[in-house]
Formats: sequence, C-alpha cells, structure tokens
Amino acid sequence: MASVATSQSSSAVQTENFDVVIIGAGISGVGAAYHLGDQCTDKSFVVLDSQQSFGGTWTTHTYPGIRSDSDLYTFGYRFKPWVGAPIASAEEILNYMGEVIEENDLAPHIRYGHTITRANWSNEDNLWTLEGIRNDTQQPVRFTANFLWMCQGYYRHSEGYTPDWAGMDEFNGQIIHPQTWPEDLNYKEKQVVVIGSGATAATLVPAIADDCKHVTMLQRSPTYFIPGRNENVLADQLRELDIDETWIHEIARRKILQDQAKITEMAFEQPEVLTKQLLGAVRAYLGEDYDIEKHFTPNYLPWRQRIAFVPDGDIFKGIASGKASVATDEIDHFTEDGIQLKSGDKLDADIVITATGFNMSVLGDIAFSIDDKPVDFADTVTYRGMMFTGVPNMLWIFGYFRASWTLRVDLLADFVCRLLNHMDQQGTKQVTTMLRKKDQHMPISSWMDPENFNPSYLMRSMDLLPKCGNTPEWQHTQDYWSEKDLIPEIDLSDEVFVYK
Ligand SMILES: Cc1cc2nc3c(=O)[nH]c(=O)nc-3n(C[C@H](O)[C@H](O)[C@H](O)COP(=O)(O)OP(=O)(O)OC[C@H]3O[C@@H](n4cnc5c(N)ncnc54)[C@H](O)[C@@H]3O)c2cc1C
Repeated sequence: MASVATSQSSSAVQTENFDVVIIGAGISGVGAAYHLGDQCTDKSFVVLDSQQSFGGTWTTHTYPGIRSDSDLYTFGYRFKPWVGAPIASAEEILNYMGEVIEENDLAPHIRYGHTITRANWSNEDNLWTLEGIRNDTQQPVRFTANFLWMCQGYYRHSEGYTPDWAGMDEFNGQIIHPQTWPEDLNYKEKQVVVIGSGATAATLVPAIADDCKHVTMLQRSPTYFIPGRNENVLADQLRELDIDETWIHEIARRKILQDQAKITEMAFEQPEVLTKQLLGAVRAYLGEDYDIEKHFTPNYLPWRQRIAFVPDGDIFKGIASGKASVATDEIDHFTEDGIQLKSGDKLDADIVITATGFNMSVLGDIAFSIDDKPVDFADTVTYRGMMFTGVPNMLWIFGYFRASWTLRVDLLADFVCRLLNHMDQQGTKQVTTMLRKKDQHMPISSWMDPENFNPSYLMRSMDLLPKCGNTPEWQHTQDYWSEKDLIPEIDLSDEVFVYK
C-alpha cells in the first residue's frame, strides 16, 4: 500500500495525499472502499463524510418506521450475504454496513465530520485538491488525490424539500419534514396530516397510525405500490435445506432480478396489464367499495417513478382499519388549525408532515474546477452516467431507480478498479472521457428523458445535471440488466478514454 504523504502548503493548512479520495460513507462509499481494498491493494485511499457516522441515507432518516423500499438481497452488496427479511429497517441496514466495515478493516480509512466544498484538478500535477472543513473544529482541511470517487448520493442531507404554501406561517401546529425528524416529536392522540404519497409517506403512515388520533395521507395525485409479504420464499426454502448463505444470497439475487426484469419489461411493453395487476393487489386489501380509481390510480404509467414495495400491505391495512385515510386533493392554503383544500374540504391537523421529497444535490454541492476554471456539469456529457466529458480522473456513483441502487455500486466499483489497474499498467496518470469524432454531432439532451423517468426532484434540477447523448454509452440508461453485461466489457483502449 502506498504511503500517506503529509505536506505543508503555503497557506499553512496541512495537505494529506492519497491515491484515491472517496466522498461519502453511505452504501456507495463503503462499497467503493471495500472494492478498492480488494481489487487495488496497493492504493492508498480515504473516505470523507460530513456526517458523524457511516450510512448516509440510513443515518439521516430517523422517522418512525424508516425502512428500505427494495429488497436487501439486491440492495445489499454482492459480496456480503443478506440473511434477514427482504425489506429492512434503517437499523438493520446500518448493522449490515457496520459488519462490512469491521470485517474488512475499513474504519481506519474513514474520516467523519469532514465536509468538502471545493475540488480543483491540476493538469500539471495530475491531482485533485479537495478543500473543506472539519465540522467539529471548523478548521480547514485539504486533501490531494490522483482519483476522485464521488459517492455523495443524490440529495442534500441537511434539509428536505418543502413547497411554499400560502398560510404556513399562520398554522398553529408543527410542520415537520421527515428528513429532519425531531427525536421528541409527540404525535400520540394527535391529528396528523402527511403530505405526499411516495415511499416515505407509505412508510410513515402505518408506522404512526396506531398512536395518532388519526392520520391522513394527503396527495395531489396517487402513486403505484407493490404490496407483498416481507419474505423471500426461495431463500427461506434454501435455508431449510441448510444451503450456504453465500449461495442463498446469489440465488435469491438472481431470482429477484429475473422477476424485476419481467416487471420492467411489462411496464414498457404492456403497461396496462401491469397497472391492472398492481391495482388488483391494492384492491385485495381495501375491498371493492374503496375508491381505488381516485386514490390509488396514478396518472402516469408504471415505473416512470420508483414503485415502493409495501411489506405485508401495512399502509392498506391501516386504511382498512380506519386509523388512516387518504385524501386526493390539492392544498389551497394552510389555516390556523389545518389545511384548506381546493375541493372545499378541510383537514384538521395538529401536526403536518411534509413527505414532499428532496433537494437534489449534484455532486455533493462541491464547487468543481479544472486548473482553477469552474466546471459547470450542465456543459458536460455523461459517459454511461458515471464520468463526464472533459473532467479527468473522476467518477460518480448514481445508482438505479428501477432496481436496487447498490447493484450499480458493485458494478461501477469493478470498473473503477479495472481502470485504475489499467492506468498503472500503462503508466498513465490521467484519464478523461471525450466525445469521439463519430459522437460530435449526436443529439444532446437533458440527463433523463421525462417520458422514461420523472420524479419531481429530478425534474426540478435538470438544468444542473450533465447532458446525455443518444446512445447507451452517453446515457444513464437506468437499465441494470443490460449494464451488468456491458460495463464489465468496456474496452479501456477505446478512443472515448483519453489517457495522459
Ligand atoms: C428513505 C429512503 C429510502 C430509500 N430506500 C431505498 C431502497 O430501498 N432501495 C434503493 O435502491 N434505494 C433507496 N433509496 C435511495 C437511496 O438514497 C440510495 O439507494 C442509497 O442509500 C444512496 O446511497 P449513497 O451512499 O449513494 O448516498 P447517501 O446515502 O445519500 O450518502 C451520501 C453520503 O455522502 C456524504 N456527502 C455528500 N456530499 C458531501 C460532501 N460535499 N462532503 C462530505 N460528505 C458528503 C453525505 O453526508 C452522505 O453521508 C432510499 C432513499 C431514501 C431517502
């Protein structure tokens, strides 16, 4: 392993040098660190995270019931078997990640409480210089690295997105965003309104329903859900046969991915059949008399936004029991004691929870520059949703939305390690993706086609994101099933990669 050099810069801030700096100690950053240690054994690296612990999403979100919305056989890493029920709580996910860190001695590589704010690439030195602060002392920190691996996730952890509604100031109750859930929030016997109907709302509503006086999920328009039992029958059967957990993990992953591929294919080729199946599953919980048309039939085709898995149909059971209800309506304004809806109805509320989504954070809100010239990522084109034209020695992990995010962590980590080893063998220090002659005139469009995938946080930030071209090489296709074969086959001597 290369030694860690420490030097003193002109401005007296200590500069530490590593071969690779990883930003983020969430599921992506910890996965990146594991693979680097496993596949590039002589590289020195550090993982920097502004939070005080690992986990990213799973430490930020502490609201009641917080859980995954996809299965842990595929949200878990390919190298560490998942042995529990498929849908897991944040605590279970953190325990799993903690074991990965401990079993692979990754802790010494991670620095918490380090927020990086600037990243400058020097063409002369072939180095990124990363600057930021230590949150505890407010002291400036500086790191240099030949390769920058961005594992910063996709949203701002410090605050969620809350729209500005008229009258919010007049509301006498509490308005809470799930991303900043107060530890001592008392919702016992209170009237609660949860605004939104994504995975967060669907998790929160059943988790608090028994304690509240009543909880209403208020949505402008409905969302698709997949209700099902929180079990993996195949994995459980294999366990009964005393099969090794590493085999069970791999077999369960393959089966889940095969089933998901069928659902995704159906979403694009026979959306009406899939819609009927999804709504039929909801109807089975709520009965024929419930207005499924109004409250659970989205106005978009399935899979254009994430579909949350609802373990054991818990939100539907809450609705069926009368402890929870759904209002499909629009907010006109807040009043002193609730929300006035455009239909004329009114919802009384002591507490309003705004499960209204995220503020997108493109590349960790870091100001990037190359040779001190600012980089606007909207001027770049993405190479397979992981690198950016003209930006050397940097890759970001942006996972999948129609499959577990982590599948892409393992896949891209193999790619980074192969690329770094290739550069070492070649004796090159710099790699930049560039449009080839044949790509120069391809149509360029925004990061994601709204017809294909269109969650609001992405739509709100499209102008900040890199552009894409018209072939999978220049897109984040969101298609795990083709990328799992394509990415390992990438020819590193292709003209796309310009080495120095
Ligand atoms: C409630 C919730 C449930 C979800 N459930 C699922 C699911 O079941 N399946 C699924 O596939 N996806 C799910 N997602 C999406 C989820 O965010 C990702 O799957 C995954 O956890 C992202 O991991 P990450 O490590 O890439 O990013 P994050 O978890 O966002 O972690 C990024 C880390 O980078 C750090 N960071 C960012 N910028 C900087 C900086 N400038 N300096 C220092 N540190 C920085 C942050 O502090 C953070 O710790 C869910 C998201 C949410 C919010």
